[in-house]
Amino acid sequence: MAKTDYNPFQAARQQFSEVADRLNLGPAMRDYLSAPKQEIHFAIPLTMDDGTTRVFRAFRMIHNDARGPGKGGIRFHPEETADTVRALSMWMTWKCAVVNIPLGGAKGGIVCDIRALSPTEQERLCRGYVRGLYTRVGPNVDVPAPDMMSNAQHMIWMLDEYEALTGQHQPGMITGKPVGLGGSEGRTEATGYGVIYVLTELLGTMGREVAGTTASIQGFGKVAQYAALKFAALGGLVVAVSCWNAADRCSYTVRRSEGCDIEELAGMTDSYGSIDTKQAAAAGYEILPGDDWISQDVDILIPAALENQITVDNVARISDRVKVICEAANGPTSPAADPLLAERGITVVPDFLVNAGGVSCSYFEQVQSNTNHFWTKEEVLGKLEPLMTSAFRSVYKLATERGISLRQAAYDIAVERVANAVHMRGWI
Ligand code: NAD
Repeated sequence: MAKTDYNPFQAARQQFSEVADRLNLGPAMRDYLSAPKQEIHFAIPLTMDDGTTRVFRAFRMIHNDARGPGKGGIRFHPEETADTVRALSMWMTWKCAVVNIPLGGAKGGIVCDIRALSPTEQERLCRGYVRGLYTRVGPNVDVPAPDMMSNAQHMIWMLDEYEALTGQHQPGMITGKPVGLGGSEGRTEATGYGVIYVLTELLGTMGREVAGTTASIQGFGKVAQYAALKFAALGGLVVAVSCWNAADRCSYTVRRSEGCDIEELAGMTDSYGSIDTKQAAAAGYEILPGDDWISQDVDILIPAALENQITVDNVARISDRVKVICEAANGPTSPAADPLLAERGITVVPDFLVNAGGVSCSYFEQVQSNTNHFWTKEEVLGKLEPLMTSAFRSVYKLATERGISLRQAAYDIAVERVANAVHMRGWI
């Protein structure tokens, strides 16, 4: 399917339908879980700095809240669609359920190019978003967070508007706040570290540990850098990382066969995760084409950049030495590539389990905000590791018992938990 034809909501429903077949869900439950339970579509009129008015379309959708308040980010994207938000809200439901945190799945978005708006216009847009929604979000209802192109400053404007409208301090209404203003220690590291907590467990089932293994990583942004740091701290060797270079409008792979120095590379990287390849070359790294990250002779591949990166067209480039693909990005493996990887004996650890450290830490932020109490970074990461490892162990156990893939097992656990909650509440 050409990328332009890709409809994420169709893909999410297709995945759900396969799980529903395996779990033998009844028709009403299938119908209920195959689309958001609530969709809010609204318009935000915005007074621009030049005095004109523009109208921005916005969404907030809760796919399911049987296990707890909705949870999910707010995306700012000029081509945002209702179907993208629907799909992402559904995937959030499964992600929260697989790591067993008491939250449901939600997502929001505003159709806008945020970079084209001045800071004051951005602030008014954020406040307008909350004014359109404030009766339908809240610490015990639906809890937004940053996502594509939205950041901690946007979250604080939204929280401030919500508190002004409700007349109460309610920092648990939103997560992704700056540390010192209700944000959680450890959030920066959480997703990347979570990737390696899960990887460590998987390697344990193979009688191996991170020390002595090698990895190639696609991406060098927020997730990839902390995954690489943790992997290296545990004695693994990161042989290659890749990144997008905005100035050259192409991607590069940066390689050092005796192992990259992650802190050194991070020092040459901008806030968007682009490594300065001239500096890297001067420091002795090889600079290769961007897609060469996939053909490295390593034990582990960690795609941590984009969706749809491992496809039927490039599976053959993967070295025979690779035994594990740890999906740190969302949707990096195309569904058609999955069986080809299985035939080659490569174990794929699925995205919504591997990268759930981020939402788990958002849940910790919400708990801290709701109780007006703060944990140290050590406390946060000390809670994250057992949560992630226990989620992995449940998935691994079920995959072994049912003779299915880790992806199928993760879906089975998540959907079963949500369907049980819906059923026990008496909804269906
Ligand atoms: P980021 O924007 O910080 O980093 C993205 C990285 O990918 C950058 O290094 C960029 O240069 C690189 N990249 C972009 N295009 C590339 C290409 N063609 N080839 C090679 N590298 C390329 O993003 P992030 O927050 O690290 O997120 C990465 C992935 O993880 C995304 O799929 C995101 O949805 C997912 N994710 C992130 C979080 C989180 O907490 N940040 C949580 C869950 C899932």
